[in-house]
Amino acid sequence: MATGNSAEQRTFDAIVIGSGISGGWAAKELTERGLKTLVLERGRDVQHLKDYPTTLKMPWEFEHGGELTAAVREANPVVSKCYAFREDAMHFFVKDNEHPYVQDKPFDWIRGYQVGGKSLLWARQTQRWSNYDFEGPARDGFAVDWPIRYDDLAPWYSHVEKFAGISGNKDGLPQLPDGEFLPPTELSCVENYFRDFVKKSYKDRHVIYGRCAHLTEPQQIHLDQGRGQCQNRNLCQRGCPFGGYFSSNSSTLPWAARTGNLTLRPHSVVHSLIYDEQKGKATGVRVIDANTHESVEFFARVIFVNAAALNTNLILLNSTSSRFPDGLGNDSGVLGKFVAFHNYRARISATYEGFEDTITEGGRPTSAYIPRFRNVFKQETNFLRGYAAGFGAWRGKGPRPAGIGEALKSSLADMHYGPWQVGSHMMGETIPKASNQVTLDTSRKDEWGMPLLHVDISYDENDDKMTRDFIEQFTEMYEKAGFTNIQSSDSKQAPGLDIHEMGGARMGKDPKTSILNKWNQIHACLNVFVTDGAAMTSTSTQNPSLTYMALAARAADYAVGELKKGNL
Ligand SMILES: Cc1cc2nc3c(=O)[nH]c(=O)nc-3n(C[C@H](O)[C@H](O)[C@H](O)COP(=O)(O)OP(=O)(O)OC[C@H]3O[C@@H](n4cnc5c(N)ncnc54)[C@H](O)[C@@H]3O)c2cc1C
Repeated sequence: MATGNSAEQRTFDAIVIGSGISGGWAAKELTERGLKTLVLERGRDVQHLKDYPTTLKMPWEFEHGGELTAAVREANPVVSKCYAFREDAMHFFVKDNEHPYVQDKPFDWIRGYQVGGKSLLWARQTQRWSNYDFEGPARDGFAVDWPIRYDDLAPWYSHVEKFAGISGNKDGLPQLPDGEFLPPTELSCVENYFRDFVKKSYKDRHVIYGRCAHLTEPQQIHLDQGRGQCQNRNLCQRGCPFGGYFSSNSSTLPWAARTGNLTLRPHSVVHSLIYDEQKGKATGVRVIDANTHESVEFFARVIFVNAAALNTNLILLNSTSSRFPDGLGNDSGVLGKFVAFHNYRARISATYEGFEDTITEGGRPTSAYIPRFRNVFKQETNFLRGYAAGFGAWRGKGPRPAGIGEALKSSLADMHYGPWQVGSHMMGETIPKASNQVTLDTSRKDEWGMPLLHVDISYDENDDKMTRDFIEQFTEMYEKAGFTNIQSSDSKQAPGLDIHEMGGARMGKDPKTSILNKWNQIHACLNVFVTDGAAMTSTSTQNPSLTYMALAARAADYAVGELKKGNL
């Protein structure tokens, strides 16, 4: 996979920056279509199976029982807020002191810098977006109109779902289009109870199985990838030895490698894109070797930027030239602005007294999902847009075992099942605003010569109203369903912890107010494509990664067509 030193050896048909969820897809599609493709990844290599050091460990094999030590928490006040940052998966997260950024306002930036990016760590929830999302800004008068609609993406959602393997039910909901699903796993009896209750009591609210990127029944295409059935281990964040969930490492990258057209270069920090004024296009990228700090340039006819939303903004803002003094393609001045995210502030939990003759055994990859029901078909509240929610029900054993030796044995023997617990968390859409932005520090740089990123992002009144509404509506639903001991809270957590940051290089119809066109090409530099979260014009309520994958596959197909026509 090494690249040679001559300019010729450093020249490819395509370059993809970043090997995470979206970059993996770009690489797969470009290499399959015959393009010699260089994937540049700033982190270390992580090979499927070989580099999952904790995947088969038993709980007692962890030095701290799987928990974080006080010292680790203290050294990592930001990343330790993420539920998955635990002893078993810490090695896949960026630690707070490794890659500093400037929080103009509190922002918990959760990152994974390695081959595979955050695809190793994600929670694998994969809901399609609908026209209520793509038409949202135009209908409700915010951001700018998306240059695409659901129909533009539908075939690409199907394309991605078939390959990645998504389990789900066909629910027939216009706000959450159905996809190409593998069979679902089961909901628990209390989840089914709540589903039936909601169906009976509300005409516009639904509790469904949360669609997720797990192979419940692998098809030939998954076996061909070397992946097997999900074993419901619920240890996904360690990397799955069965390839039971979708990650770049288990799926798209090895597939791309098998074409013979992939060169993967880890430890390659992309500093900026090289713009050629004469040619009117980008000709390559400047890379700083992460270990030696040497600078090296790579060249290609087409470049995909997939470094994850905020890092993609950073790279583009850092790509200055006399034609683009404020960042590549930034004629409009909107690059870095209109960043949005998901509002995950509110939670609710309760107890259900019933079904005491039942328990749940073993793990499963997902739980129930409540698609958005507020302001879907018309504006009905005093805030814009809406929220989706998770719903889970489980029975835990308590009290927690304590002591050592005899005391531990007897406290283990004392454990018994408590009543069913239920819980939901909100996933709210936020409104992109120019004031929610990222910019580059004018004087401070990191170890690799990249300017530090300033993050200036906060909630607004719309988010506060939506949070209150979630708590009101869910309290009512829970009460009516007969749940007791209802407890709700607004964590007021900083933006970022949702890990769904989006925008900054948004798609749009008008080059004066957007950076990308309907094919994810930079309006003013057509051989550069951005197909990660940076491209998003608005955020929907649905988890975004499936949409990044579909956009990446669609754009790669288009790019190859344009190259063949000599248009790029
Ligand atoms: C715990 C957790 C749970 C999540 N759950 C879900 C979920 O259920 N559903 C969902 O849709 N999403 C979920 N997400 C979010 C999801 O992981 C991201 O949306 C997704 O990974 C984004 O894909 P990406 O390709 O844009 O970025 P990434 O997967 O982060 O990949 C970006 C890559 O670019 C590399 N890079 C960055 N800068 C440079 C540079 N200058 N030069 C070279 N390489 C660079 C990085 O090292 C990284 O490997 C979750 C994330 C986490 C951490």
